[in-house]
Amino acid sequence: MVENLQSHGVITSDDVAKAMEAVDRGLFVPDPSYAYVDSPLSIGYNVTISAPHMHAMCLQLLDKNLKPGMRVLDVGSGTGYLTACFAVMVGSEGRAIGVEHIPELVASSVKNIEASAAASPLLKQGSLAIHVGDGRQGWAEFAPYDAIHVGAAAPEIPEALIDQLKPGGRLVIPVGNLFQDLQVVDKNSDGSVSIRSETSVRYVPLTSREAQLRGE
Ligand code: SAH
Repeated sequence: MVENLQSHGVITSDDVAKAMEAVDRGLFVPDPSYAYVDSPLSIGYNVTISAPHMHAMCLQLLDKNLKPGMRVLDVGSGTGYLTACFAVMVGSEGRAIGVEHIPELVASSVKNIEASAAASPLLKQGSLAIHVGDGRQGWAEFAPYDAIHVGAAAPEIPEALIDQLKPGGRLVIPVGNLFQDLQVVDKNSDGSVSIRSETSVRYVPLTSREAQLRGE
């Protein structure tokens, strides 16, 4: 899977390749026989684990903000796969925090991570943690972050996430309803932000737990 993403030019960073090789996607999906197919998969609760090429693209966009010792927030952490990749990249001196609003997904993501030889020591040691919460509020406890990733599409960029970004930090977030753009938000050293669109994407909505469970 990783070699395929490298040969298609989706992965160009060795650090990204190493993280995706270290964290076995097979431990994070309900049916491991589809684990290495480049497609999103249903994980219940009306949501999906993103396709490997989307995870790879987001890791690439955040690569410079995922160096050892850095802090990263993953909003809508779902299966925990990408949060685990982030944790492996920032290492035991860094901090990778997942926020997910479905408690059952938080519990299963912790189990998935515990099964991963690369990620479970980071969970035990506390540099990797997943919390139940509304990710539109970010996670103020460990802010500011070098990198923030959002795994669900927001109608507009939540202010709290920009507030919790470090100067020099980068937020990657799908924005829109039916038509969505993957936006890259860079916070400059004077606190202003620069925003660009990377590509068109299709994500499940960043919404309330009730609306998601109703299938809206
Ligand atoms: N990146 C994850 C999950 C992607 S699906 C993975 O690849 O496994 C998007 C996730 O965002 C779902 O798990 C959904 O429950 C969660 N989500 C949606 N709105 C949210 C909100 N307001 N706060 C926290 N999590 C949210």
